Amino acid sequence: MKTIGLIGGMSWESSIEYYKLINELVKEKLGGVHSCKCIMHSVDFGEIEKLQHKGDWGKLTEIMVDIAKKLEESGADCIVICTNTMHKMAEDIEKEVKIPLIHIADSVGENIIKLNLKKVALLGTKFTMEQDFYKERIREKFGIEVIIPNETDKNIIHKVIYEELVKGQFKDESRQEYIRIINELVKDGAEGIILGCTEIPLLISENDVEIPIFDTTKLHSESAVKYALEK
Ligand code: GLU
Repeated sequence: MKTIGLIGGMSWESSIEYYKLINELVKEKLGGVHSCKCIMHSVDFGEIEKLQHKGDWGKLTEIMVDIAKKLEESGADCIVICTNTMHKMAEDIEKEVKIPLIHIADSVGENIIKLNLKKVALLGTKFTMEQDFYKERIREKFGIEVIIPNETDKNIIHKVIYEELVKGQFKDESRQEYIRIINELVKDGAEGIILGCTEIPLLISENDVEIPIFDTTKLHSESAVKYALEK
């Protein structure tokens, strides 16, 4: 089994889910008391979030590259960034380490094409929804159209992530707002919903909506374990 190198803490609420999922998946595949070989480097999200909202992506790239190198030196066989947003610097990391980076958007794209969907909606931080690093990768690599909420709804999604979800608060009124926004996106033609922030699956589940959801935390964990167990 290979060792998975996780960059976590963004936030730790979802990093726990990664840790749990990768261990459960290894147990499921290998049985007995098997568990996942992994190393997690967990950050202080307070520092990261400040730099994100200041727009200091240069500094954030430096931090992420440095962590990836440390994981590689510690014996990790791959890099898994436990957040969608911080895949903004995935390519910069790939240039600086020899081990592969398992990209969260690829895990999602591979699963969307399995269902033969052509148009999906993306919920995530404003950075993920508005910038090209995520949507464009899915469009270019998988030929899938990705739509996002309108300005007002994007702000609601973003605010709930940073003011509630990353603090471990999961409120019913926010769940209802998310469901309302998802229904708007369905009216605009979305055939599936990417839960493109690793904390959103803690708020919304497939029981809340009528179209397929793509839980990025789960799908990314599955790709990581698949890689770790490959011969
Ligand atoms: N975990 C979130 C994501 O998947 C948001 C936190 C962050 O900005 O990294 O994008």
